[in-house]
Amino acid sequence: MELATLLRGVCSRCGRPFLLEASPGLSVFCPSCGHPIDEARCERTSVVKLGDCEVRDWDRLAALSPTTQQMVLQALESGRAPRELYPVLLKLREVGALICT
Ligand SMILES: [Zn+2]
Repeated sequence: MELATLLRGVCSRCGRPFLLEASPGLSVFCPSCGHPIDEARCERTSVVKLGDCEVRDWDRLAALSPTTQQMVLQALESGRAPRELYPVLLKLREVGALICT
């Protein structure tokens, strides 16, 4: 589980929209045409990348608010979570309710 930055924008050469993960210090290129992407013109979003995680303790999860539970389950399904969920996910992992490999 780690934080990542996503870049969302439209390629200035081919005009296709993209959603890419930014790597610090590395240039990013359009997945369609390979044109270098100007990160300054992209919308940046911080997300949590979960990798392979599964719930081990459903009681712990059930103790969270219904909204948060829903968000956690969606995050597990998609492999990504909004930045706000990071502390919750860390806590769940800490107590062993969430197992990530
Ligand atoms: Zn392109």
